[in-house]
Amino acid sequence: MVAQRIKFESLRSLLSCDRCVKQKNHTMNRRRFVQNSALTLGALTLAQQKVLSALFTKENGAAPPPWMFHMMTDKIGVFTERGGTIAFLLEKDGIVVVDSQFPDTAPHFIGELQRKSEEPIKYLLNTHHHGDHSGGNVVFKGLVKHVVAHENSKKNQERVAIASKNLDKQLLPDRTYSDYWEGFVGDERIVMHYFGPGHTNGDSLIHFQHSNIVHMGDLLFNRRHPFVDRSSGASIKHWIKVLNRAVRHFDKNTTYVYGHAADGHNIVGNYEDLENFADYLGAVLTFTEGEIKAGKTKEGFLMTKTIPGMGEWKGDGITRPLGAAWDELTAK
Ligand SMILES: [Zn+2]
Ligand SMILES: [Zn+2]
Repeated sequence: MVAQRIKFESLRSLLSCDRCVKQKNHTMNRRRFVQNSALTLGALTLAQQKVLSALFTKENGAAPPPWMFHMMTDKIGVFTERGGTIAFLLEKDGIVVVDSQFPDTAPHFIGELQRKSEEPIKYLLNTHHHGDHSGGNVVFKGLVKHVVAHENSKKNQERVAIASKNLDKQLLPDRTYSDYWEGFVGDERIVMHYFGPGHTNGDSLIHFQHSNIVHMGDLLFNRRHPFVDRSSGASIKHWIKVLNRAVRHFDKNTTYVYGHAADGHNIVGNYEDLENFADYLGAVLTFTEGEIKAGKTKEGFLMTKTIPGMGEWKGDGITRPLGAAWDELTAK
């Protein structure tokens, strides 16, 4: 792979890299960056955010903002505050944004973005319809040329908004696709793939092909029990196939961005996280099947505290995948 210079620009990004605390600029080649990802991307874990906040306060005497804006390469970065991770691409003739979080956090992101680039936002791409990924779309009204999502994601967004009586607070996709969508901005080719149902029935995997970075949306919860939205067509069995297909389709050097991660875990990683999460989902199904066969009641089963062999997944929310697996396996 041709070495690609990577620049860490923002103060918080700068502070996030141990080697850069005292430097204004720091560059390293992409391969080294990927090898060092545990260090640099660890900036995005909660523990390091706290350290960072302390540093920020010390240097500026002001409370740090509640969000993280982090450049992964000289063109692609991530934003985290509340809800699903936002990714963005800064090109010479336009910006691409993946997901929008909530109406109250999206303005923080847009403010930071506009400090970095004056180019127009060409595309806002939604990985899926959930409110922590598309709720902030409305803040992009008048700023973005096109909103793109999978056709089922648009239907879900509309359906949920009508049921919640807030359709007027949405910015729905004006472009949809069924299997595959591609767009070109500057030097980058952006491809949205639909590999079938998983977390919902409308999850896109969004590939920045030249940079070889894929936003997985909520198809990847890193070491965190996932939400499985059966009311929007989710399937755990098929979710495993989607993850395996992603590992085959992309390559060993692909960097992945995740919708969510447990405290202390990264929102960015490599194919091994996808394999581990597929193993976790497989273990959820196998365990659930065994308990159903053993004659457990659903109520008793939902008291489970850990999934056998999957001790890395701990914390809240275990009933979400277990309940969904039970319902999926017992559905007529
Ligand atoms: Zn989410
Ligand atoms: Zn979701």
